[in-house]
Amino acid sequence: MKKGKPRREKICQVCGLPFTWRKKWAKCWDDVRYCSQRCRLQRKKKHHE
Ligand SMILES: [Zn+2]
Repeated sequence: MKKGKPRREKICQVCGLPFTWRKKWAKCWDDVRYCSQRCRLQRKKKHHE
């Protein structure tokens, strides 16, 4: 029942806000978990990346 392209939207693991695909993530979208670098840095060391 899927149609079209996959939904390019995720929820930031840090701030909990939804964010959408950006061109800079084109190559690593599957690995993107945070809306911004700031959030990503906040997450440091909690989980082994
Ligand atoms: Zn965030």
